[in-house]
Amino acid sequence: MKTIDKIYINGEFVTPKGTEYFDLISPTTNEKLGQVLLGNKEDTIDAIEAAKTAFKTFSLTTKAERIQYLQNLQASIKKRKQEFIDVMIEEYGGTFQFATVSFDYILKSFDSAINLLGTYSFNKTMGQSEVQMAPIGVVGIIIPWNSSNGFICGKLATAIAAGCTTVIKPSEMSAQQTQLILECFHEAGLPKGVFNIVNGLGEIVGAEISRNPDISKISFTGSTVVGKMIAKEAVDNLKRVTLELGGKSPNIILDDADLSKAIPMAVAAAFMNSGQACVAGTRLLVQENKLDEVKTLISNIASKTIVGDPKNENTAVGPMVSNKQFERVQNYIQIGINEGAEILVGGLGKPTGLENGNFVKPTVFVNVNNQMRIAREEIFGPVLSIITYKTEEEAIEIANDTTYGLQAYVSSADEERAYRVASQINAGRVQVNTIGHDPMAPFGGFKQSGIGREFGTIGLEAYLEPRALIR
Ligand code: NAD
Repeated sequence: MKTIDKIYINGEFVTPKGTEYFDLISPTTNEKLGQVLLGNKEDTIDAIEAAKTAFKTFSLTTKAERIQYLQNLQASIKKRKQEFIDVMIEEYGGTFQFATVSFDYILKSFDSAINLLGTYSFNKTMGQSEVQMAPIGVVGIIIPWNSSNGFICGKLATAIAAGCTTVIKPSEMSAQQTQLILECFHEAGLPKGVFNIVNGLGEIVGAEISRNPDISKISFTGSTVVGKMIAKEAVDNLKRVTLELGGKSPNIILDDADLSKAIPMAVAAAFMNSGQACVAGTRLLVQENKLDEVKTLISNIASKTIVGDPKNENTAVGPMVSNKQFERVQNYIQIGINEGAEILVGGLGKPTGLENGNFVKPTVFVNVNNQMRIAREEIFGPVLSIITYKTEEEAIEIANDTTYGLQAYVSSADEERAYRVASQINAGRVQVNTIGHDPMAPFGGFKQSGIGREFGTIGLEAYLEPRALIR
């Protein structure tokens, strides 16, 4: 059993002043893996102080120095690939497939920041003036559990590129993953205080980051509910906020789409990261004449979807992160049944032989209308709702009839038509005939999926303040 009893402040592993322990439970077996000693408000203030001091000199570093730091971080992570994959599988229950992709994503986030520094100009001329893009200050980074080290690296790499220092609060459920990345970060030899990491609870460590006046900006990924709480706290000293929140992404299959390609992609989009993905395509919009064909295809694919031990290379859907998340997904499946939706695949309960872990049956509902709770609320598990439409206009209307707007998907044999439809969807990203990630394109949500964007130039500028020098 492992005990993680250190946090990282001012270039050192230190014992937190907090005294509360949190148990780390295996999602696959529900056995105790270890425990983590949580930081408290004082620890958070110490971390913020270290970042504030470090900002004085780090904000003045050159592009070349920042590129070197980013390369050092990437190099120290690269050496420990297998450990990253193993710990994500063990602690989070991420599948081998997802953990492997996540590791590549981590490395690419440093490449993207390095590329940006190669092309971005921090000094611009606008009108008669010189405009300096100045680092914003100390950034508070608050992270969920569903891709912990991926989010830490994406945000930290951008902060470093911008010349900002950071205080990072991961989910307390990700403590072993955090410990590994901390060891890599420590080895990279950055100046003291550039990154500080405090394990702890949201309402203690996260809340202090949200309200502390020495934090200039918060970059948050997590639920819409918590994002709103952070934004309310942040307003007192007008902190800048980037909020990456929930989603209920529509996937429009236009009537000319090649279903043999579009439907396997739709299932992958719905069940990615075991359904615990903000960008999961959880509303499948199908032309009503195509419903029977789609039902047959989905039933075939879903019956072959391997649910089970996340270590198994063929597993597509692993356990939910916690028993609480398992219960949440069960509750939504029950709500769907109560609302009159019909189960095509899956349903309540655990798959046979997987009773010890937090496994759910990947579930597909038909006879869903877009007003049902299963079509409106984020479930964050492998649950897909199929909704029919009559015309292209109606498909667009249903897609946009949501409080969210993070991502959408459109499939069509006619790319121009797909683009025309995609251009009418109110979402930060629309994937046309693909499920992919472009690390240089902006990522973030319309409406209640968030505020601001990450990645690329727009993402970098969220860590910068323009200062115009008027002659
Ligand atoms: P969560 O919102 O419950 O927690 C996220 C983080 O916020 C955790 O570190 C938590 O400890 C912290 N937190 C909780 N209360 C806080 C408070 N009062 N003040 C400050 N911080 C607080 O989310 P979760 O359950 O960890 O993750 C799942 C959610 O994350 C889903 O809603 C999902 O859609 C969202 N998500 C969004 C994106 C995106 O990029 N848009 C990506 C992944 C996950």
